[in-house]
Amino acid sequence: MENKMLIFGHKNPDTDSICSSLVMEKFYKNLGFDVEAVRLGNVNKETEYVLNYLGILLPREIQKVEEGQKVVLVDHNEFNQSAEGIESATIEAVIDHHRIANFQTKDPLYYRAEPVGCTSTILYKKFKEENMAIEKREAILMLSAIVSDTLLFKSPTCTQEDKNACEELAKISGIDINSYGLEMLKAGTDLNDFTPEQLINLDAKSLSKGNTKYVIAQVNTVAIEDVLKREEEIKEAIKKEISENGLDLFVFVITDILNSNSEIIAIRK
Ligand code: MG
Ligand code: MG
Ligand code: MG
Repeated sequence: MENKMLIFGHKNPDTDSICSSLVMEKFYKNLGFDVEAVRLGNVNKETEYVLNYLGILLPREIQKVEEGQKVVLVDHNEFNQSAEGIESATIEAVIDHHRIANFQTKDPLYYRAEPVGCTSTILYKKFKEENMAIEKREAILMLSAIVSDTLLFKSPTCTQEDKNACEELAKISGIDINSYGLEMLKAGTDLNDFTPEQLINLDAKSLSKGNTKYVIAQVNTVAIEDVLKREEEIKEAIKKEISENGLDLFVFVITDILNSNSEIIAIRK
C-alpha cells in the first residue's frame, strides 16, 4: 500500500475530475501533505486539450485501491463510480457537487458538498479560505473544469458562484473565458473516431435507485445531426450494454453545446 494519499475523480474521468484532482494535489502539497493525483481511466479529448495547453503530463492511471489506502475523492462520492476496493479504503476527504448516495465510511472524514456546478468552484473557495495564492496553472485548471461542467455557463446546474469563480480565475490566468472555453469544448466534440460502444461510454454515469439500475450518458457536439446519423448503431450498442450489465434503463443525451439543445435516446430493458 502506498503511504501517500491518492486523489482521484470518478471513473470515465471528465475535465472536472482530472483538473480538480490536480488542483487538490497542489492544495495538499502546499500544506505539506504527501499526495498524488491519479485517474480512473482514459481522459477525453477535451481534457487532453487542457493538459496539452498547460504542458501537463497525464496523471498515473489506477484501477483499484488496496485495503486501508488513504484516498481523497473529488467530483464524486458514489462507490459504484469510484475505484475498485473503495469500500475498504480510508477515505480522508470528499469534495463534491453531486448528490450523496451509495456512500459510507467507518471513520470520520472531511466532507464538503455544495450544490454548485463544478467541483473546482468549491476548490477555488478553499484556496480563498486558506489565504493560499492561486498560481496560473491551477487557475487555468479550475477555469477549464468550470467551463466544462457548466458548458460555458449554459448548463442548468450552473450557479452564480461558478460564474464568479471563473471570472476571478480568468483574471488570475489572463485567459479569455469565451475564446479559450469554446476551443476547449470543441476539442471535446470530435466524435468521429469513436465506435458506438465508445460513444455511449464517453461520459457515462452508473446510478441506482431502489432496485433500478440505470446509466445516464452524455456526449457534447456542435452538430446533433452528425451523431444522429449513427442512431441505429447507437441503439444497438445501448441494447447490448443493457443486457450485458443487467441495466433497467439507459439514457443517452446528445447535447449541442453552442445552442444548448439536447436530443435524448432512452431505452428500457
Ligand atoms: Mg464529473
Ligand atoms: Mg463535476
Ligand atoms: Mg459531466
